[in-house]
Amino acid sequence: MSDRNLSINLDRLLSRLQALGQIGALEGGGVCRLALSDEDKQGRDLVIRWMRELGLSVTIDRIGNVVGVRPGREPGPPVMAGSHIDTVRTGGLYDGSLGVLAGLEVIQTLNEAEITTTRPLAVAFFTNEEGSRFAPDMMGSLVFQGGMSVEEALQTVGIDGTTVEENLNRIGYAGEAPCGDPKVHAYVELHVEQGPVLEEEGVVIGAVEGVQGISWTEVLVEGVSNHAGTTPMRLRHDAGYIAGATIAFVRDLALRLGGDQVATVGSIEFTPNLVNVIPEQARFTVDLRNTDEERLQAAESELATFLDNLAKSEGVKISRRSLARFEPVAFDPSMVERVERIARDLGYSVRRMPSGAGHDAQILARVCPTSMIFVPSVGGISHNVTEFTHPEHIEAGANVLLRTLLELADAA
Ligand SMILES: [Zn+2]
Repeated sequence: MSDRNLSINLDRLLSRLQALGQIGALEGGGVCRLALSDEDKQGRDLVIRWMRELGLSVTIDRIGNVVGVRPGREPGPPVMAGSHIDTVRTGGLYDGSLGVLAGLEVIQTLNEAEITTTRPLAVAFFTNEEGSRFAPDMMGSLVFQGGMSVEEALQTVGIDGTTVEENLNRIGYAGEAPCGDPKVHAYVELHVEQGPVLEEEGVVIGAVEGVQGISWTEVLVEGVSNHAGTTPMRLRHDAGYIAGATIAFVRDLALRLGGDQVATVGSIEFTPNLVNVIPEQARFTVDLRNTDEERLQAAESELATFLDNLAKSEGVKISRRSLARFEPVAFDPSMVERVERIARDLGYSVRRMPSGAGHDAQILARVCPTSMIFVPSVGGISHNVTEFTHPEHIEAGANVLLRTLLELADAA
């Protein structure tokens, strides 16, 4: 069978997406599979069962990354498809899972067509991509790549006070393979866009050129708690005010810096959090992103100056802690071109674009040629239970993945 006529089986891919989406399913739709939770364990078990059914040899490394390898005619580093199967607390069925399950669908398509590639192929899913339970996000791929030591990752304490190591042991996913094995020849990640651009422009495939830089900071403000009625405004050391002022400041900052700069305060907590008490403490996060490293640094330094000045003028103590910091990443131009050309050859509309979200691919890009394939998210919505991608777009993305992996695995 000529591989030019090959295409993936959409129904099979959709049924795997639905089956995985049942694990941690939320009432009314969506899914919650926080990293290393019981639901994550069940999801892992299912995907590994599928990997074994497809004849992949599965390894689990010390941080719980899972890699399934299909041998090629020649030994050597595999061409890898991958993503993640953990989700945020109110996630959708497609974020992460699509890239992993489309990888399995590619394997099954090749198995049925009895095609052996020159290089081995691999499908991987990386631990704790979302970072909702343990910071930083993309932890598994970061350890895989060598950007974070496995010891440091294992000791990371999550939002419920338990460590990554405890949870890996608890769910039986503290593997024995060394992190960073196998070496990867090239990495391709199919993912939903999680933004509105493709849908708005009526384009089916995004050939992703790179990923925005990300800076997450946790800010802790310590002021003085006092009576909301009797304390004159001039005598307050109001931690809540600092949080509010920062929310307004970062929005203005993003609009002023222009370009790709975005800024968000997404989490906030007051103590004691009562209607008639001036907050003694405010803890909040700031998420800054830009495709340009210099501008991102400028945004960070403006935020720091703003907070330092407020600490003085309001008589409060403000401390900052970095939760995650990733420089912008540019993918290998030949990989981006390949995705673009293949999409066009298959008759799909395609555009180049940056990724606004962080992905394991940006970490893999440090060790091998990497690219991403985006498909449209309806309404641009993700990290939300209503996340949806049309079946025909899933089919398009998976077929582009199939052809990209085949080319890479057989290229000289
Ligand atoms: Zn994702």
